[in-house]
Amino acid sequence: SPALYLAPTPIGNLGDITVRTLEVLRAVRWVAAEDTRHSAPLLARFGCAAKMIACHEHNEEAAAAQVIGRLADGESVALVSDAGTPAISDPGARLVARVRDAGYRVVPLPGPCAAVTAFSAAGLADAHFLFYGFLPAKAGQRQEALRGLAALPYALVFYEAPHRIVDTVAALAEAFGGERRLLLARELTKLFEQIHSCPLAEAVAWLTADSDRQRGEFVLVVAGAAAVADDGDSERVLRLLLAEGL
Ligand code: SAM
Repeated sequence: SPALYLAPTPIGNLGDITVRTLEVLRAVRWVAAEDTRHSAPLLARFGCAAKMIACHEHNEEAAAAQVIGRLADGESVALVSDAGTPAISDPGARLVARVRDAGYRVVPLPGPCAAVTAFSAAGLADAHFLFYGFLPAKAGQRQEALRGLAALPYALVFYEAPHRIVDTVAALAEAFGGERRLLLARELTKLFEQIHSCPLAEAVAWLTADSDRQRGEFVLVVAGAAAVADDGDSERVLRLLLAEGL
């Protein structure tokens, strides 16, 4: 039966496309893409000859109607974003909701996602984490958002763009205190991949010591607030206190 496939694409290294995603991209008649011009060469490279439907944040309702029309014709559609997993800090969530409401299958394919890739390298895999995505761009709103996160006992995962990375890291240190550990994952899966861990207090100095360190795409993983001692989970508290790396 026809379905909307959510098809993750590489976040830097073309080798990260999965075998199953390739099979789906080669089989579907239609691909809905965040930016058709960006995705066309990539899809051609993967041997996908599907026709394209534009689906970005400004036309998601109209795109959903188009996708549902194709599904009603019995034709499957794959959704791709510019990079990584669709609908994760990318367009797609409304399309998915509409397609599901219309009674069609939504099939999520596992694959590249910058947040999960960075978190797996943080050495916190036994802890809970909260995926936040992009903080607000405006300083006041960002501060307010961070205030709401400061006491949570969960590691926090943020996305950030290069032109805001220094400001954001400074705001994190101010809101959470300099002692919390940060893992900064830059250009994951790419030629200049860099993963650096330090206390928040040292992060701005590290970034500004070399302008190359402010280039590219970033995931920030911040350790959670130290657990409250009265939750009885003393082993976890001890581990947090003893943690040297993130
Ligand atoms: N849907 C994507 C995913 O699954 O990861 C995320 C899309 S979001 C618009 C783009 C942000 O993801 C970037 O600003 C950066 O924070 C993060 N990102 C994407 N690729 C990355 C990479 N190779 N290394 C580090 N961060 C990356």
